[in-house]
Amino acid sequence: MRNQSVQPLERIRELAPYAPGLSIDEIRAKYGLSQIIKLASNENPLGASPLAVEAIRAEAPGVFRYPRGGNPDLAAALSARHKVSPERIAIGNGSDEIIDLCVRMLAQPGEDNIVCFQPCFSIYPIQAAIAGVETRRVPLNSDFSFDFDALLARTDDKTRIVFITTPDNPSGYCPPLADVMDLCETLAARRPRALLFVDEAYMDFARAEKNHSLLANHTFPDNVAVCRTFSKSWGLAGMRVGYAILPLPLADAFWRARLPFSVNILAEKAALAALKDIPFREATLRTVHSGRKFLQEGLRGLGCEVLPSEANFLMFKLPAGSITATDCFEALLREGIIIRPLKSYGLPEHMRVSAGNENENAIFLKAMKKLLGGK
Ligand SMILES: *Cc1c(COP(=O)(O)O)cnc(C)c1O
Repeated sequence: MRNQSVQPLERIRELAPYAPGLSIDEIRAKYGLSQIIKLASNENPLGASPLAVEAIRAEAPGVFRYPRGGNPDLAAALSARHKVSPERIAIGNGSDEIIDLCVRMLAQPGEDNIVCFQPCFSIYPIQAAIAGVETRRVPLNSDFSFDFDALLARTDDKTRIVFITTPDNPSGYCPPLADVMDLCETLAARRPRALLFVDEAYMDFARAEKNHSLLANHTFPDNVAVCRTFSKSWGLAGMRVGYAILPLPLADAFWRARLPFSVNILAEKAALAALKDIPFREATLRTVHSGRKFLQEGLRGLGCEVLPSEANFLMFKLPAGSITATDCFEALLREGIIIRPLKSYGLPEHMRVSAGNENENAIFLKAMKKLLGGK
């Protein structure tokens, strides 16, 4: 009987298992391919920063030691970069850890709620479910833009966090900064206990960052958290480092609540080195901007409907009357090309492709042309 054996909490048993898809090695073996092109996870098309790789090698003999608590060197570097006091900086094992801790630090299980769009980045509702916190969803507009009035209307006195992703995943939509500021002010007036969590994971790739980003304008209102990650533009997804500027009381609580050593020695050194690798950073942004444009024009040329994107990926829909998204995804897999179907986001007809390097983008487009009947 259930209540007489070791059983996790019901809300944990009910979680859907994370479906990571086949690994590169599995796909290579399954289809007998030598080369795999992965454009599924918005990773850096140029790989890792050479300075970061060097720093990881140099630090390797030191891994027998525990990291210093609080990642002070990285906090200092980020404080200088973003012109904000180091006390307000939270650093985590990926921004995922910061999102998770914010939910757990702010929301009372079984009582409070978070509010976010549908679809959105899956970590917000998943971490809320793990914490026993209700998620309230608000549909996106039909063009995938944000209805902030609807978002506000879904909040109540029990709302502790409102999540927005800007640029958004999976659409690439990026609201103007003025709209985000309005949302922040209205939320502060109407729901003084609620945090506006602004996830800027992809903001580096926006064409005019200053017109969209709180961080780029060094604007950090007291009811707002802004997070960024080293996983995308900095090329360190596998090292797991993210950071956020939090309201002071929350930042203080963060360092008490976080596992003391969740950001390891190699990750901290790699992040510090990456921040200094300006040529790599510039090459990354150039590659993403030109790749995004090339893919957008190419896919549109094939009759696909492509959403405008400020991120390092594009969301698109195949031409009406052609193949299904699932068939397209599987056909690409057989060619060794991995993109992201968006069924799990509730968008069965859409797919997302990351901007790769020049060669990867060309191979992907060529395969799409073949699939869609072009020559
Ligand atoms: C990739 C991504 C992140 C980054 O997560 P990490 O844990 O830092 O790797 C955060 N938010 C969104 C919306 C993302 O797509």
